[in-house]
This record gives sequence, C-alpha cells and structure tokens, in this order.
Amino acid sequence: MLSRIVPGFMVRWFARPYVAGESLAAALDVAAARWKDGSLRATLDLLGEDVTEAAQVDRNVATYLRMIDAVAADDRYGNGGSRPSISLKPSAFTIGEREAACDPVRKLAERAHERGVALTIDMEDQRWTDLTLDLCVEFQGRGFDVGAVLQTRLHRTEGDLGRFAPGARVRLVIGIYPEPEDVATTDKRVMKERMLAYSKTLLDRGVFVEFATHDVEFLERFVREVAPAAPDRCEVQLLLGVPRKKTATRIREGDLGPALPVRLYIPFALGWDQATAYLRRRMAESPSTMWLVLRNVFKRS
Ligand code: FAD
Repeated sequence: MLSRIVPGFMVRWFARPYVAGESLAAALDVAAARWKDGSLRATLDLLGEDVTEAAQVDRNVATYLRMIDAVAADDRYGNGGSRPSISLKPSAFTIGEREAACDPVRKLAERAHERGVALTIDMEDQRWTDLTLDLCVEFQGRGFDVGAVLQTRLHRTEGDLGRFAPGARVRLVIGIYPEPEDVATTDKRVMKERMLAYSKTLLDRGVFVEFATHDVEFLERFVREVAPAAPDRCEVQLLLGVPRKKTATRIREGDLGPALPVRLYIPFALGWDQATAYLRRRMAESPSTMWLVLRNVFKRS
C-alpha cells in the first residue's frame, strides 16, 4: 500500500543503489568495474517484465539481442571466460498468453548460444513455473548454457530437482513472490534450510549450483557445509546494492571453506520509469524490502 503512495522521485532515490543505470553501456561498465576491483562476476538483467504493450515486448527483445552481442564483444575480461551472463524474465516477452513468451525467449537463447553467452531464465510467480522450467530443460537438452532458477518456498521444488541432468546450471533462491500456503511454506527458516538441502541434492546429481541469497549466515553455511563436496560446481550470487562486500571477499578468498566464485546480479533500466515501476512492484510484493531500503539509505547518509 505504502509503496503506491511514495512519490516517484523518492522511489527513484531509494532505487539508485539497486539499479546500475539507465543504459546497457552503464550496466556493462558497472560489471567491468566490479570485475576489475573485486573479481566479481556479473549477471545483467534488463528491468522490463510484466509488460502491457506490444511495443515494449519488441523493445525488450531488441535490447536483449543488443545485450548478448555487447557481452560477447566485451574485451575487458581477459580470455572471456568471466564475461557477464544475462538473466531474463519470460513475462517481459508477452502481453497476453504466457505461451506467447516462448518464441521470443527461444530466439534469445539461440542467439546467446551462437555468441557463447550464458543465459539464466529467472523464476517468476508460480503461474510461470512450469513454462519456465520446460524452457530451461529444453535448452539444456539442446546443449545451451542456460541456467534455471528454483524457489525453495514452493513445495513442488523438491520434485523439480530431478529434472536437471549432470552439467546443468541451477540457481537456488527462496523466491521473492508471496505464494499461498497450499503451494508454499511461509516459514523463511524452512525455505533457507531447504536451500542447503536442495543444493546438496543437486551437487550429488552433478549439477552446477548457484546459491543466491542476502543471508550471511546461510551463505557461510553453504560454503562450509555444502561446497566442500564439489567446489568446482558451486557459485555464490549476490544482488547489486545489498552491502555484502566483506562476505564476498571472504568467500572468494577461501576464508570460510573452499574459495568460490561470487557473482553480482546487476539490474539496469532503459529510463527511470521502468526502474521505478520495478521497485514499486518489489516494495508491494515485499513491504519489508522498503523498510530495508529506507534503513540503508539512512545508514548511508
Ligand atoms: P532475507 O532473509 O530477506 O534477508 C537476509 C538479510 O539480508 C537480512 O538481514 C536482511 O536485513 C538483509 N536484506 C534483505 N534485503 C535487503 C536489501 N534489499 N538491502 C539490504 N539488506 C537486505 N527470487 C525469485 O523469485 N526469482 C529469481 O529468479 C531470483 N533471482 C535472484 C538472484 C539473486 C542473485 C539474488 C541475490 C536473489 C534472487 N531472488 C530471486 C530473490 C531471492 O528470492 C531473495 O534473495 C529473497 O526473496 C530474499 O531473501 P533472502 O533469503 O535472500 O534474504
């Protein structure tokens, strides 16, 4: 409720630390700077999901094609192995039926495969789960470097773990979308214990696990309790704007267990209208986030 009445300029002010900028070039520069300064890998994400006009779908497809080409051509990463990956949300590619998103997403996955750029299909609310996982499994079966995301709040997720073959890439998150109790747990602690348990199961299956959370306790437990079994198939993922520098350094340098790569998820927008819409949605979905943002803003000032 509060998120709807906060004026746009204030949302924009809150959003600043969480959004890399208003252009693809700005996002690429932030990614390259984080790589240079702290050896952090990056995942770029265009803010533009839940579109309402066909022109926005076309603009999203065009921007993602540009992103793929720009990442492939970016020569700031030495041998290229640590170039950014790209995340997308299927809802950015349809204004009607969910299935209409499949063809644009296939087009992007094919382009990314041709250019040797890694892609991850973010997970949205549970209406999207089947379609999104089907696409990921299809692309992985075609040999594309396309990662999936599993939300541990959903009860179905334990059953979905078995869909991934050795070598597949899976990001584990608790999930940001509130879901009804018949399909999901509402107990955050349970969601996070599931992150640890499911990451063990995935590693046992030969899957590459991307452990994505802001929670320092669980990041440390992942490194200590899970990663030693297969450190070459583990990565930790953090979000731009959530201050986790010390933890990231300790994880990368092996202070807590095996040294693991750390990747920063870097959202950017084409204009602040889209960024503020994104943050309003996030605030509405998770009012606690708004208070965290406020707290961070005041801490910084
Ligand atoms: P919380 O339990 O919410 O918080 C842990 C700690 O971090 C607390 O101390 C809290 O005070 C602090 N904190 C929390 N938020 C902030 C903030 N904004 N700023 C500063 N401090 C904060 N969700 C999906 O549904 N689909 C996805 O595809 C997806 N991809 C993700 C990718 C990455 C790289 C990351 C990091 C998250 C992604 N998520 C995704 C969101 C994930 O589900 C959230 O991280 C989650 O909802 C928040 O829970 P948490 O367990 O990370 O942290």
